[in-house]
Amino acid sequence: MSKKEDFSDIKILLTEMLEPSNKGEQNDTIEDEIAAGNSTTRNNNKQIDMNLAIKEIIDDRKIQIKNALERIENGSYGTCLSCGKAIVRERLEAIPEAIFCIDCQKKKERQAESMINLRDTFFPDQIN
Ligand SMILES: [Zn+2]
Repeated sequence: MSKKEDFSDIKILLTEMLEPSNKGEQNDTIEDEIAAGNSTTRNNNKQIDMNLAIKEIIDDRKIQIKNALERIENGSYGTCLSCGKAIVRERLEAIPEAIFCIDCQKKKERQAESMINLRDTFFPDQIN
């Protein structure tokens, strides 16, 4: 907490992610982004499940964005929630709602992967 960083540009970024501005064109909503990423991955009979899953992802992301805005307000933004180090500016500009630094994010992803491997090993019937 040596010097206070200015996150006002990131705040604008986050606000626009949450509420796309009324400029007419709205190509950059989270909904479109996620839907586009998923559109080619599943066939039709899974569509309803996918839509639900997408909605959950969107809701999750909105919560993350709101949390990020709150952290900007209370001054804790830009600090890794896991190790307490500053998250690099580049990362915040790419993923404004990031709460972990790159190192911790990688660790979490590895943990998640090993959890999935464990689940597949012990509960193979639950794979869908
Ligand atoms: Zn960290």
